[in-house]
Parts: sequence; C-alpha cells; structure tokens
Amino acid sequence: MHAHIRPQPGILDIALYQGGTSKIAGRDDVVKLSSNENPFGPGDMARQAYARAGHDLHRYPSTDHASLRAALGAHFGLDAGRIICGAGSDEIISFLCQAYAGPGDEVLYSQHGFLMYRISAMAAGATPVAAPEQERTADVDALLAAANKRTKLVFIANPNNPTGTMIPMEEVARLADGLPAQALLVLDGAYAEYAAGYDGGAALVDQRDNVVMTRTFSKLFGLGGLRVGWGYGPQHVIDVLNRLRGPFNLSSMQLDVAEAALGDAAHINRSLTENARMRTWLAAKLNAIGLATDASYGNFVLARFRDAAQADACNSALLADGLIVRQVGSYGLPEALRITIGDESACRRVAHVIAAFMEAQP
Ligand code: PMP
Repeated sequence: MHAHIRPQPGILDIALYQGGTSKIAGRDDVVKLSSNENPFGPGDMARQAYARAGHDLHRYPSTDHASLRAALGAHFGLDAGRIICGAGSDEIISFLCQAYAGPGDEVLYSQHGFLMYRISAMAAGATPVAAPEQERTADVDALLAAANKRTKLVFIANPNNPTGTMIPMEEVARLADGLPAQALLVLDGAYAEYAAGYDGGAALVDQRDNVVMTRTFSKLFGLGGLRVGWGYGPQHVIDVLNRLRGPFNLSSMQLDVAEAALGDAAHINRSLTENARMRTWLAAKLNAIGLATDASYGNFVLARFRDAAQADACNSALLADGLIVRQVGSYGLPEALRITIGDESACRRVAHVIAAFMEAQP
C-alpha cells in the first residue's frame, strides 16, 4: 500500500474477478467449458470480416456506432436510436453504475447474480446488496423487500449466470412496477438468445421508462475475445450513458466483425440447435448419475454435488482428464460446478469422467 497515493474509498475492498484458465500444463487435448463460450467459435462471416479488417487502421473508428446500431435494430426489431454499444456488456454495466450509483446509494441484485454487478457497484462507490433467492432463482418478492429509497439500480440476469434459471416476464414486469421511483431495472440478457422465444426484455423496455436491457456478442455469436456488448433502453438513459462513453470505445475491427456476425444466420441457427440438443442430453446424463441440475435456459448447466468437497474432487478429476469447468464458490455455490455446453464430443467426455467419478464415490 502506498503511503500517499490511495484509490477512492472502497476500491481496495473489491475482490479481483477470477478469470478461468484455458490451459493445463503438459496437455494438448484440453477442452475449456468454463466461460460459456460458443464451442463452434465465431461464424464464417465474422471470421471473414476479421480477415478483411485492418485496411484503415490509421483512421479513428466511428464514434456513434451508427452502422452496428442500425444492424442491431434491424436484426432484433428495435429502435437503433436507443441502442448503445460497449466493450462487452461489462462496459454497459459499468456505465450504468457510474451514471446512476454513487456513495450512499445501493445497487441491488439477486443472491447468485453475475459478479460484475457487485464489482461495478463498488467501483462507483455504491453499496452492493444481494437479495436472497429461492431454489437458485431470482425472487421478486425478496428483491422488492430489499429495495428502498437508496436503491438506484437493480440487476437481474435472465437467464441467470451461473444458475441458468429464468423468471417469467410477468414477474419481471411486477418487479419493474414495484420498485421505488428512483430505481432503474437492468435486464441482463447475455444469454437471452438461448432462451427460445425470449426477447431479452426488449418489449418491456419499450413499455416502461425504468427498464434497460444489456446484451452481448460474447456468447451465442462466439465473439468473447472481441469484446462487444450493447444496451437498449429509454432515451433518457441512453443519452446519459453516451455522455460517459469514450468516443472511441469500440475499434473499427470490433464494429465490423460484430456487424458481420449478426448476419450469419447459418452459424446462429447451428449454434442454437446444437446447444439445445446437447444441453438436454448433458442434463439428462447428469441426472441419471444422481446429480441434480437446475433447468437451464443458457449455454451451460449447473450440476449440484453432495457438498463442496465432492464438487471439488470432481473438478480435480475433470482437470486430470483435460476438462476445465467452472467452480462457482465465488457465487456462493461451492457444492456446484458450472459446465458450458460444448460440442457433442466435449459433452460426452465430460459426462464420461463425471460418471466414472460418481461411480467411485462411497
Ligand atoms: N452478464 C452475464 C450474466 C454474464 O455471464 C456475462 C459474461 N460472463 C456478462 C454479462 C458479460 O459478458 P461480456 O462483457 O462478455 O458481454
């Protein structure tokens, strides 16, 4: 700690986000199922746009992201004027906290909510507050009970990471309508595309002035490394966020590749179909060997073990076989492992190792 140069109060209380590893020393057959990435990677159209990019690197990129926003508006049927793009949806979450929450304010989220809500709230000097869940699913009554006159932001991920669970739109609307007037509800739709028939909350955003939606190219579109996310909200919120946004927060490469990915219907459909097929398959396999899973609407399943020690031992068995999944103790779920839905061979490998592990359990 430096004697004189100190960060803002609270910053040193932030626990570092622990990113997953992607390597195991001495192995070249590693499969990484720990970051909810698309097992097929980016589609051909994104790859081609990436290969084409780079001709105009001396030029500054677009400041208003008009082309990508227009493409998003057309693809999802949204008003492009109320879209904001950022370096991953993480950046949109961070803008929201910077803009709406500060010292003395509270940022509310659900017990097993995504870790960045807490980190971004604390980075803004606000107090993070977690409302209890029922059966690893967000509980609207608990969120409403925890909301008060200091609550400025409420985050709900639908589907949620790491549980994969979802709450119905009527419940989300009940939450939006029951919150105190100064609270903005953020619907995190990082996995929205995987939930068949779900619009990420876009219709509710259009009907309310206190609801914002965040989305990403990191999951279904297979572009986690590119860092592109976006938000959709009422004009008054988007105007505020744009004031905080650096004029060149996205590179021309990011903008071009993300836009190309939106047009790749073949890749999108294949990714969705395979995810749904293998998600059902893997959950059934895990259930058959005695492991409970929550109903997942995302591209991962949460497998629950007898206790933390068993989950930990199974994680070690998977690592010994070159399989990296996610331990979710930092989400308060040490007895569970979150497994990203890989391609068929990856899912079969994981199921095989876990079955052998469970068989050997006393
Ligand atoms: N929200 C949720 C619920 C997530 O799981 C993630 C990624 N782990 C994000 C937001 C952030 O994703 P990105 O910044 O890559 O868009």
